[in-house]
Amino acid sequence: MTYVERVLEKLKTENPGEPEFHQAATEILTTLAPVIERHPEYEKAGLLERFVEPERVIMFRVPWVDDKGEVQVNKGYRVEFNSAIGPYKGGLRFHPSVNLSIIKFLGLEQILKNSLTGLPIGGGKGGANFDPKGKSDGEIMRFCQSFMTELQRHIGADTDVPAGDIGVGGREIGYLFGEYKRIRDEHVGVLTGRGLSYGGSLVRTEATGYGLVYITEEALKVRGDSFKGKTVVISGSGNVAIYACQKVQQLGGKVVAMYDSNGYIYDGNGINLDVVRDLKEVKRARIKEYADIVKGATYTEGCSRIWTIPCDIALPCATQNEIDKTSAETLVKNGVKYVAEGANMPSTLDAIDVFQKAGVVFLPAKAANAGGVATSALEMAQSSGRMFWSFEEVDSKLKGIMVNIYHAMENSAKEYGYEGNYVMGANIAGFMKVADAMMAQGVV
Ligand code: NDP
Repeated sequence: MTYVERVLEKLKTENPGEPEFHQAATEILTTLAPVIERHPEYEKAGLLERFVEPERVIMFRVPWVDDKGEVQVNKGYRVEFNSAIGPYKGGLRFHPSVNLSIIKFLGLEQILKNSLTGLPIGGGKGGANFDPKGKSDGEIMRFCQSFMTELQRHIGADTDVPAGDIGVGGREIGYLFGEYKRIRDEHVGVLTGRGLSYGGSLVRTEATGYGLVYITEEALKVRGDSFKGKTVVISGSGNVAIYACQKVQQLGGKVVAMYDSNGYIYDGNGINLDVVRDLKEVKRARIKEYADIVKGATYTEGCSRIWTIPCDIALPCATQNEIDKTSAETLVKNGVKYVAEGANMPSTLDAIDVFQKAGVVFLPAKAANAGGVATSALEMAQSSGRMFWSFEEVDSKLKGIMVNIYHAMENSAKEYGYEGNYVMGANIAGFMKVADAMMAQGVV
C-alpha cells in the first residue's frame, strides 16, 4: 500500500459517516501521488496525516427564539483546518444539509484554494444546519446574533476570518458583524463580505462569479477563442451564478438557463438578468416566476435536466455533486467544450472522469471559484491598511489573480507530466506552498 492509500484508509476509518469529506480527500490525495513520490521527506514528517487533520474543530449549540416565541436549536460549526500560510479563511454556510462532513470537505478544499490565490490565507470553513428560507428578518438577525455569541471567541482579524457562502450573504454578514463588534468592542476586519459603509470591499459581491468567468476567459484565450457567441448554461441563481451570468453577458456570451433548488428556467433569447436579480436578490422569490414574466421562457420542475440543454460552456454554480456521471455524459454528447466549477465540488468524481476523457477543458472549483476568497483577502488588506480601493483597482487585481491561477495550474500539471489535467495542476500548485510552509514550521 502506498503512503497516500494508507493515509486515506486511516482517514476513512477514523472519520466514519463523512462521505463528502472522504470524497474530497480522495480526490485531492490521489492527485498528489506524484508529488509524494518526488518528496519522500513528506512521509517522514507525517505531512499528509497532518494535512488531512483539522487543527481545530469547533461545534456549538445555537439557540434562538422564532417569531412565534418558540425556542429553536441549531448546530453551529467552525473547522479551523490549516493555518500554515496565514489566518484561517473560508465562508460560513447556513443550509439544512450542513453537517461536519460537509464543513470538513469544504475546509480541506479551502486550504488549497486559498494557497492558489498566492495570498497569505490559511483554510477554514463553518456554518450551521439552519435554513434561512422563509425566515423573517428578525429571525435571521436573532439566529446570527446567537451564532456569533459563541463564534466570536474563536475568530479574529489575525486568527480566523469567516465570510459568506450558501445562505450567508450581505444581510447575514451585517448581523454577524454587528454582534461581533458589540461583544468585542473592535471594528476590525474579522469578517469579509461586509457592506461598503462598514469596511467592505468593492467587487467582493461580484468576485466569485466574475473570477470564474475570468479564468474561463483565459482558458479560451490561450486556445485562440473567447466567450463571444458561446451558449452558456449556469446552474444556481444565487450570488455566484448571478455575477457569473453578468460577466458572461458582458463578454458576449449567451446564458440560456439557470436554476434554483426547485427547478430551472430556459430562455433561448438569453437570460434577462434584471428579472433574475429582482426575483432572487430583492424579492427572495422562486425562479419559477421568471417564466411568467419573460415571454418565450419556460420553467421545468426539478434541477438535473438543466444539463440536457446543449451548450458550449457549463458553469455549475449551485452546490456539491450537482453534475453526476449521466449529466456529464449528456453534456459531452451535446458538445460541451468547457466546464468551470463556480460551486464547490459540483461534479462527482465519475463526472470529472467523463469530462477529462472526452477532452473537455475542466477547471476545478478550487481554482475556478477562488476569486471570492481572493477578493476577501483584498478586503482584509484594505481593512488592515485602513484603505479603500476603487472598483477598477480591485477588479483588475482579481483578474490578475485568476489569470495567474490558470497558469500556475497549467504549469504544475505540465511539470508533473499531466498536461491539460487541471485537477492535478490545481491540487499540486496549491499543495506545494502549504507543504513548504508546514515543513518549515516543524511538527505542529
Ligand atoms: P447562494 O445561497 O447565494 O446561492 C445558491 C444557489 O444554489 C441558489 O440558487 C440555490 O437555490 C441553489 N442551491 C443550493 N442548494 C441547492 C441544491 N441542493 N440543489 C439545487 N440548487 C441548490 O450561494 P452562493 O452563490 O454563494 O454559493 C453557490 C456555490 O458557490 C456554493 O457551492 C458555494 O460553496 C460556492 N462558492 C461561493 C462563494 C461566494 O463567494 N459566495 C465563493 C466560492 C465558492 P435556492 O435559492 O432555491 O436555495
